[in-house]
Amino acid sequence: MAEPAYLHDEPDPTVQDLIAARPHLRMDAQSGLMLEAVPLARIAAALGTPTWVYSAGTMRARLAELKTALGGLDAHVHYAVKANDHLAVLKIFADGGAGADVVSEGELRRARQAGIAAQDIVFSGVGKTIAELRHAVAENIAQINIESPAELDMLSAVAAAMGKTMPVVLRINPDVDAGTHAKITTGKADNKFGIPYADAADLYARAASLPGILPVGIALHIGSQILNLAPYRAAYRRTADLVRGMRERGLVVDRIDCGGGIGIGYRDDPGASPDGFAGVLRTIFGQMGVKLMVEPGRWLVGPAGLLLASVVLTKGDGRFVVLDAAMNDLIRPAMYDSYHAIVPVSPVDALAPVRTSDIVGPVCETGDTFARARALPAVEAGSLVAILDAGAYGAVMSSSYNARPAAPIAMIDGDRWTVIRPRQSHEDLWANERMPDASTDWN
Ligand SMILES: *Cc1c(COP(=O)(O)O)cnc(C)c1O
Repeated sequence: MAEPAYLHDEPDPTVQDLIAARPHLRMDAQSGLMLEAVPLARIAAALGTPTWVYSAGTMRARLAELKTALGGLDAHVHYAVKANDHLAVLKIFADGGAGADVVSEGELRRARQAGIAAQDIVFSGVGKTIAELRHAVAENIAQINIESPAELDMLSAVAAAMGKTMPVVLRINPDVDAGTHAKITTGKADNKFGIPYADAADLYARAASLPGILPVGIALHIGSQILNLAPYRAAYRRTADLVRGMRERGLVVDRIDCGGGIGIGYRDDPGASPDGFAGVLRTIFGQMGVKLMVEPGRWLVGPAGLLLASVVLTKGDGRFVVLDAAMNDLIRPAMYDSYHAIVPVSPVDALAPVRTSDIVGPVCETGDTFARARALPAVEAGSLVAILDAGAYGAVMSSSYNARPAAPIAMIDGDRWTVIRPRQSHEDLWANERMPDASTDWN
């Protein structure tokens, strides 16, 4: 595993370089940092901070770019709902012609609620319960991605009892290192995901004989934030070999779900290119006569969201900059040592002399640190900052730790913006809690 990103030797990119690398952002000399055509200061003034801001135009543009890259392939995009499951986000991808990859009944219900057709939904995950399998079968979704022999038997029993036949793909574990952070690597033999490569063909043959099961293909997903094509190439070559061998045995395999994981640039680097990814698919699977599915989450939504925060105060001559956003809002730096670029919103702040600070939140955990030793224009109490590339694995991973209500979410589309989730109230935090008293009926 690479060392934590915040200890990286490279100097931090300048505010100018960070903005230049992101076509949806601009620093206006009067209005300050703009996302699409809306000044972020305007949203902060209306909603306060911390506040999430999503760019609808960026999400649409990224889906379109990915679909263009996949042109000529028989490939369909299934957006990985877990990256950002807001209904308005799902609706953008549904309108753009994408289906969904879900990992729970809750995500399946969200996808349906947002208008994604059941036949455009695939269900992944290592521990789907019988109730979840039953729900997926009743909904008639496109396929269930099976991750173990035990799950295959559970689904067979469920589907047969319901008088249905469920299309399944077997998620294999190709035992390839995605070269990413250990906590987001999923395709190594010692990760919990998928069926061992060597067992897949036999299990597929057994699946074909089970009631209620129609095996249609193979799936894999080797990890997240993958910036190099080499691990994809290695994993897909192994998959193609497997499928060829299975076909020689007379097994019918006509779907390959290639998973997600395409990485984005969190600094001033461009991230992975969908053209490069599509090129790998074309080379390896292009002539195999298979229907392909791809399941990106982060790549579609990560760059399209940011977290607006205010500086509460600075300490130790600027050694610490304390924000009103915290790890309960955006946990990625605490959980994965993730690098998130942070830029001032005010055009005046953006020109302040650069200072090196730890950018921290107010939560009572040392891990509540967004950036260590970050070179950043000197921002002071009251300044607004934007924590960039927070559209994926951001709001979905929020908690109310330290009794902090969920931050609101605004969506920008061109020069307009609207609130797509108001700020949670303090009362909402305990609205569902009960205090046993003398009249309580204890079980
Ligand atoms: C999380 C996940 C994805 C999406 O991963 P990203 O890195 O966000 O693209 C796709 N498929 C499966 C099975 C997943 O678990």
